[in-house]
Amino acid sequence: MKYSKYFMPTLKQIPSDADIVSQKLMLRAGLIRKLSAGIYEWLPAGYRILKKVEQIIREEMGAISGQELWLPAIQPKELWLESGRWNIYGKELYRIKDRSDREFCLGPTHEEIITDIVRKEVRSYRQLPVMLYQFQTKFRDEIRPRFGVMRAKEFYMKDAYSFHATDDDAERYYEEVVKAYKKICERCGLKYRIVEASAGAIGGSFSHEFMVLADTGEEELAVCNCGYGANLEKAACLREENSSSDSLPEMKAMEEVHTPNFKTVDEVSKFFGEKPSKFIKSLMYLADGKPVMALVRGDYEINDEKLKNRLNAAELVLADAATIEKIAGTPAGFLSPITGKKSGIPVHADYSVEHLVNAISGANKKDYHIKNINIHRDYTPDSISDLRNAAHGDKCPVCRREQLKFIRGIEIGHTFKLGTKYSSAMNAVFLDEKGERKNFIMGCYGIGVSRIVAAAIEQSYDNNGIIWPENIAPFKAVIIPVSDSIPVKQESMKIYELLSSKYDVLLDDRNERAGVKFKDADLIGIPWRITVSDKTIEKGGVEIKNRASQSAQIVEYDKILDFIK
Ligand code: ATP
Ligand code: MG
Repeated sequence: MKYSKYFMPTLKQIPSDADIVSQKLMLRAGLIRKLSAGIYEWLPAGYRILKKVEQIIREEMGAISGQELWLPAIQPKELWLESGRWNIYGKELYRIKDRSDREFCLGPTHEEIITDIVRKEVRSYRQLPVMLYQFQTKFRDEIRPRFGVMRAKEFYMKDAYSFHATDDDAERYYEEVVKAYKKICERCGLKYRIVEASAGAIGGSFSHEFMVLADTGEEELAVCNCGYGANLEKAACLREENSSSDSLPEMKAMEEVHTPNFKTVDEVSKFFGEKPSKFIKSLMYLADGKPVMALVRGDYEINDEKLKNRLNAAELVLADAATIEKIAGTPAGFLSPITGKKSGIPVHADYSVEHLVNAISGANKKDYHIKNINIHRDYTPDSISDLRNAAHGDKCPVCRREQLKFIRGIEIGHTFKLGTKYSSAMNAVFLDEKGERKNFIMGCYGIGVSRIVAAAIEQSYDNNGIIWPENIAPFKAVIIPVSDSIPVKQESMKIYELLSSKYDVLLDDRNERAGVKFKDADLIGIPWRITVSDKTIEKGGVEIKNRASQSAQIVEYDKILDFIK
């Protein structure tokens, strides 16, 4: 490719509305442009990178017998009603109508469509297992589109779905997919970690996320040296041991204390001169519309996902102030563990409140708190379980020895063991060896192709620009003639012809100063920079510089091909 003819509009200024390094660099390097919030155009060089990532994924999916197909983005409402997701997917789903008022959605994911195909076409266990996958634009009306192409409303995904006759086969294959995903991450030059994840709106029995490690990542991960790793949403918290009974403080009589205008745990703890860990936070939620209370120690946070699972609820929202007043007759901020009993609402406690003695909580009335509230004496929760987010100081739930560490990551892939969630909802069956009708056992496996491009940058850049891992770089090398002299031009052209027969190379033939060309090469992040000047010609070769290591050396003409290889 000759730069003078190539559409790669680089920018000198730092775009002001970009909120993350990768987005700034992608805009500056002329890889993408923003059309609207969360909606991006991929310019030729950006699209090249996207296609390289796609090709790596395609090869690894092929290696585990995946078969590529292509499904429609427009999906009929009826299939989503069958799976039960039309009503629970919420506002992230783009819902549209055609001219005769038929309802559709723009696919955020394709479980319904693929299950429909397989239930129509696969009859017997003999046709199983089968794994089908596609590359496609997905549509999600993200509540907070941000971080450029990483959280976009329209993005490019590889989604794969496997169908099995038995659970064992589904689990065996799941492991194969995990191995293929590892290879994809390695080939894309990503530093990553696999963590246990919560299945969210896709559902199923277990799932793992592939996290690219980056301080700018949206996800918080709890990890341990023993190998354990989980998304914070999912990280398990151990039940605390009961301290021996003789060391327990004596239970004191409950007492109401006037606490005008103090509502938050911090405010009230200052007022009482006690640590937040002495408090019980009482929260009211609506689980599928019904009120429930959750209790957690004042220095911890309730984990909505864990509470949702505990309650087996499809939807969980924190109750607003008006709802709390109406149900409990108490302003928000003064709820107590006793509210549940008073208002007939189920109360679910986190392990962390189990051993609190003489705790402090709201008093169930405006401007009052209670001192010395004690579990089992003053209130009895309907359940006590793990309902909180893991926090600093927690022990690893697996080795139980070391403390968890918290790091950040970008989720680039997600694998789900779905089981029969979709096949039973959509009545997708095959005949097994005994001729009995069975629901397909399914797995689904997504990779954010466009997100990988940005995540790779978050891991690898410097003050001058992007540093692409070789396998996904838009060009392997850039050839820079630094002067207008005829020999420099001729040599550059010769090397360009030699290399471009084997690799993607860029010849910077623009009428620009050498400094500008060097700057752009660094910004775009091309792994090898080949400089041709009168001086290098005198030495019988070119200067080749590596973008990552910055090391440069003179390479003779007939050694260039080998060197680049
Ligand atoms: P997240 O928790 O980041 O919203 P998700 O769990 O909704 O992700 P999946 O439904 O598992 O994502 O989708 C598979 C992959 O698609 C993700 O691992 C991610 O790489 C990518 N992806 C998801 N949402 C977006 C988005 N809005 N923009 C770009 N890529 C996305
Ligand atoms: Mg999401």
